[in-house]
Amino acid sequence: MCGIIGYIGEKHPKEILLNGLKNLEYRGYDSAGMAFKNEKEIQIIKSVGKISNLEEKLKKQSIIDCHLGIAHTRWATHGEPTEENAHPHKVGKITLVHNGIIENAATLKEQLQKEGVVFNSSTDTEVAAALINKYYKKSMIKAIEEAIHDIKGSYAFGIICDDDPNTLYATRCESPLILGIGKKENFITSDIGAILDYTKKYVLLGENEIVTLTKDSYSITKNGKEVNRKVLTSDLSSEDTSLRGYEHFMMKEIMEEPILVDNIIQKYKNHLENLPDLKKYKHIHIVGCGSAYYAGMIGKNLFEEDGIKVEIDVASEYRYRNIIYDKDTLVILISQSGETADTIAAMRKAIEHKVDTLAIVNVDASTIARECTYKVLIEAGREVAVATTKAFILQVLILSLLSYKINPDKEYLKDLEKLPQQLKVLLDKSGFYKKLADAIYKHEDVFFIGRRIDYAISMEGSLKLKEVSYIHSDAYQAGELKHGTISLIKNGTIVFGIVTDEETKDKTISNLEEVISRGAYPIYVGTENCHYEHKILVPKVHKKLQPILVVPTLQMIAYYVAYKRGCDIDKPKNLAKSVTVE
Ligand code: GLU
Repeated sequence: MCGIIGYIGEKHPKEILLNGLKNLEYRGYDSAGMAFKNEKEIQIIKSVGKISNLEEKLKKQSIIDCHLGIAHTRWATHGEPTEENAHPHKVGKITLVHNGIIENAATLKEQLQKEGVVFNSSTDTEVAAALINKYYKKSMIKAIEEAIHDIKGSYAFGIICDDDPNTLYATRCESPLILGIGKKENFITSDIGAILDYTKKYVLLGENEIVTLTKDSYSITKNGKEVNRKVLTSDLSSEDTSLRGYEHFMMKEIMEEPILVDNIIQKYKNHLENLPDLKKYKHIHIVGCGSAYYAGMIGKNLFEEDGIKVEIDVASEYRYRNIIYDKDTLVILISQSGETADTIAAMRKAIEHKVDTLAIVNVDASTIARECTYKVLIEAGREVAVATTKAFILQVLILSLLSYKINPDKEYLKDLEKLPQQLKVLLDKSGFYKKLADAIYKHEDVFFIGRRIDYAISMEGSLKLKEVSYIHSDAYQAGELKHGTISLIKNGTIVFGIVTDEETKDKTISNLEEVISRGAYPIYVGTENCHYEHKILVPKVHKKLQPILVVPTLQMIAYYVAYKRGCDIDKPKNLAKSVTVE
């Protein structure tokens, strides 16, 4: 999502920045902009929408002669995606681009306004520019240091000062930003893919380290002290390239969720006619394996609420059971690859019984996509990490849209529009998930409890945690725990309580209390604030959409727990991406 590239060197930055932005395009954005700086002036050009719009503008305007520039693609979090809100932002002598969210922007803004600063945008970013400008006397490093001391939240900043056409500054916290080292040119970027055409040498930047770049030197400081960081050489194969600066595909793929969710929403929200109509079926069977099965469990909850009788099973059981097919039955097959052996067998069984089948898959050319009566592609792009993240979320989104088509309501549409943005905001809090992972990673037993749709979420949260971190983890229907498993609860056992389902939340909280009184250490996952010390709070949205905001937070926890335990996150032992054997 969104990106930054900055250049200082001997060339004109325009083409380099443009090329860089194009390479960052996959991250998703709603507007773009650039700033160029020479001895005399600074020139800022921005546009809403695609990078091609910015490119057109750049062609039409005469661009100043210069060797320093910063560029940005924005995914709006504060303020509409308008030209005023697009980056770079300039306040006084400071021009900057920003990825991330400044959480205390409102308070800082109020204070700055009292001090006489006039703001021209609704962004949190402009507040950062104003703050650095306020602290800037002689030293930019000091000014940035003081400003980030006041700022709470996540940020990667690329910064230019009016007084200096030969220096580019940058700093980061939680949002990614690396340094590219070239010959008589240097770069900053949020994604190594954006600068690979110019250099393979890069330096990782730690949290709150400030980098000062000229065309032939760079220095890094933190709290006034010099920091030495190794120059790394990236040896990228095409697969590595698509890591795009992330350490693991799992994280990269989680981070792609907002843009992919948005793409599907844009595709179907006004074109429900392109989705099959499930209303005509009296009975639905949902079949899948692993996470696809848990996505199906969420679907079952939704379709049942819509008044359709639903049966669900894992494919390896379904294929061997004596299934009673009624007339007007639809069998939904969910599989990322579309090649899962058991799911293919389940599909063929349904086809033999002459009932309609619907494929929800990622790969268009796959067996399941080809052989089913209907197919809906989740359009997740390539998912490399063995543990599914983005494909799961998109499977749930498709099921949710199918349910909405059965039973439309206005509230759903309103919430649907907001969903990608809310998801991005939740995923931007990596520091928060890391901290929570600190509290979990040494444990050997974790439980997840929830009822109805929250039970399905628990199953997926638990699976994600165990598959990547190797911690033993189980999910239970919250009411079922006391029928046996509660005997496993001991002092300090971690229990996630998933509490988003309106009708059952009080019951689940009572079950959480039961385990707490037996020594469990609760982690509350819900939409309303509560007294528990550890909690994951997500915005409340239409119940057909709620899992799409909850599950990614559990994916983040699983990732950071596995990271802390030093696991092979993308390739967990004994697992394969596409299970093509029975
Ligand atoms: N929070 C900033 C804004 O809304 C930056 C968003 C981004 O990361 O692109 O302008």
